[in-house]
Amino acid sequence: MPKIATALIALSIPSGLPAQHPLRDPVDAVEVRYALSQAVVSYGLRVDSADLSGYDVMIRIRNARDTFRLALAAHPEYDDRYFRYVEQLRVAAPAGAAAASIVREDSALWRVVAPGGTVDVRYRLQLPVQDRPIRSSWVPFLAPQGGLVGGPHSFMYIVGATLVPSYVTFDLPRGWDIATGLTPTIDPNTFFAPSADVLIDSPALVGHFSSWRFAEGGVPHRVVYWPLADARGFDTLALVRGLEGLTEQAIALFGRAPYRDYTFLLQDGAGGSLEHWNSVTIGATSARLASDLPDMLGEAAHEYFHTWNLMRIHPAGYGGVDYRPARRSNGLWWAEGITMLYADALLRRAGVPRPDSTRAAHLEGLITRYLVSPGNSRFSPESVSVVTYGTPPGALGDYSASVHLQGELIGTMLDLIIRDATQGRRSLDDVMRIMLARYSGARGYTTRDIEAAVHEVCGCIVRPFFDRYVRAGNPIPFDRYLALAGMRTVVTWGPGVGRDGTPLSDLRVFAWLPPGEPALRLLISNPASVWGAAGLHTGDRMARVNGAPVPTMDAFRAIFGRLKIGDTVTVEVARPGGPLRATVVVPVQQRPTVRLEPLTGATERQLALRKDWLAY
Ligand SMILES: [Zn+2]
Repeated sequence: MPKIATALIALSIPSGLPAQHPLRDPVDAVEVRYALSQAVVSYGLRVDSADLSGYDVMIRIRNARDTFRLALAAHPEYDDRYFRYVEQLRVAAPAGAAAASIVREDSALWRVVAPGGTVDVRYRLQLPVQDRPIRSSWVPFLAPQGGLVGGPHSFMYIVGATLVPSYVTFDLPRGWDIATGLTPTIDPNTFFAPSADVLIDSPALVGHFSSWRFAEGGVPHRVVYWPLADARGFDTLALVRGLEGLTEQAIALFGRAPYRDYTFLLQDGAGGSLEHWNSVTIGATSARLASDLPDMLGEAAHEYFHTWNLMRIHPAGYGGVDYRPARRSNGLWWAEGITMLYADALLRRAGVPRPDSTRAAHLEGLITRYLVSPGNSRFSPESVSVVTYGTPPGALGDYSASVHLQGELIGTMLDLIIRDATQGRRSLDDVMRIMLARYSGARGYTTRDIEAAVHEVCGCIVRPFFDRYVRAGNPIPFDRYLALAGMRTVVTWGPGVGRDGTPLSDLRVFAWLPPGEPALRLLISNPASVWGAAGLHTGDRMARVNGAPVPTMDAFRAIFGRLKIGDTVTVEVARPGGPLRATVVVPVQQRPTVRLEPLTGATERQLALRKDWLAY
């Protein structure tokens, strides 16, 4: 979240003054009065090993207004709406003071009346029953051996006072450790948060875990792994070395680390990963670490690179603490796509093995996926960015598209353009350094700003590129830009083959159950698929499949998960204009194969660019 730079100002004057010295000039006096007029906030979080169904939070507030509001923040990507699980909410005023009160004004918003601005607020966060096949790594949980607490799910903040610093004291079962991005203090159970942004974006992994440390660029880094009891053994040295190489390359790219210290919070029994201010929560089952460490490191690299590209370099209007759902940003193609590009590139630079052998092989895979989904060239990266987070499925109609993929390919083409225009002297790395210097403050960037930074680095005209492939939806002409490095694509279409070598069936039909609706709705990801060609559309309400109702996602999976090539299935949907009955014979899916080949007769300049680009 982008507000940390100003967050430190609030207390800088009082804490910087020697206690015995009087104030020396009127400016100091004004600023101290300003500081003293702010609320003073501390949090307590208690986990009772006898009852792991939730945890208790206490907020001690002093020096606030008589009436103020508390809220639970909504995360801009994953709003888990934990306001639903706040229980036993109560307030207590100090002895002798008038009674305080708290009332809910909106789902995640409460009004507190506390004469004198002094009050203790208490509540219990009652953890919901886990209903997903695997827990998301950023979601709080408790188990006998530890858990994850804190973050936007746990701590209410004072609305309009997000620059107020606070302390957090954990009261945990005996022997439990704490790993968090919050600032440690001389009390091992008490941590400091310079602002509500940092408080809410610093979850704490607590319990019994393994821990490793390394320093990179003089900055301490920590890797923590919380295992389940039946955890498989894996190569911990390779894991820590991989993360160390990653941080070394990122710091080399930008010149310095943007954080005081950094913590990788890896958890067994969880999936998914989420970037935080100076930490990352990573779902890493021991089985996955044991069997596919390169893939796991790729995911870790993506979230870690967000520390720069998204947490610091951020789209205008993205981030910040707010209880209202986040505003949609048209800049996520850069935040996600360029992060994909560097997650891969930094691991290659560090010499960490990648699932695809070379940068060329990696690009072949990206272009293949781009061609498989025509939505990627039909919709502009800006418009796909807007529907990437916080929108229901089906926002692109019968198409699907990925800003991660669009952005990574655009970044790769821009890198080639810059290298060509500067005869190999500069690259996308230089753009990243400009972006960090300019757009990690409160304002954030727009597409125009990115375009200006690229123009500044390459000294070339890129407006038409941005107009055509970022602001509008058009197929990226890969060969035009690959030719700068003496390469071209060779694309052939044919029957697709799955990972296990068997023919790939066309099952590009999906469903979801909108909240409050009685029937599933269909999702089509490509109108050219056999499902789209049969007349089915995204948003169609599913009535029957093979004559029987399909009321739940489980029922949908039970039927469609078993379909094989040559099977016939009849789908009946209900539409406002009347029902439709479509009969589909499941075919083999046609897929592209993409190969990068050298151009014959390439010049010395093209060959030199290719060599540099491949070496990265
Ligand atoms: Zn991401």
